[in-house]
Amino acid sequence: MDDLYREVIIEHYKNPGYRGHLEPHDIKFEDSNPLCGDHIEITLRTDESGRITDARFDGRGCAISQASADLLVESIIGKPVEEVKQLNKEYILDMLGIDLGPVRLKCALLSLKVLKAGVYGLGEAGDELVE
Ligand code: ZN
Repeated sequence: MDDLYREVIIEHYKNPGYRGHLEPHDIKFEDSNPLCGDHIEITLRTDESGRITDARFDGRGCAISQASADLLVESIIGKPVEEVKQLNKEYILDMLGIDLGPVRLKCALLSLKVLKAGVYGLGEAGDELVE
């Protein structure tokens, strides 16, 4: 792992700017990655035009899962929900800036799965959401 990017991940893991829980919220979803024990909950507020006005994540797990959730949540505030529905795994991997093996990939993509299941209003988050 490249040192510079590792620092970004550790910084967001130790000092997440968007950890929390919005109450009230318009959208909430949570899911886990049993392979690693990661758990992420995301709460969102949206306005009448379908734009995300605020977002927070809460959860526990490894540095990659928590840092990716913090980066993701920070990046979607102000975006239309319709745009968030189109995000794919490259979006997360570009923000993390590192190459990940298949196990770590699940950690990195958990927050995106949770976010997309939430904005699509699904009952569960499947891997197909982050292809
Ligand atoms: Zn993990």
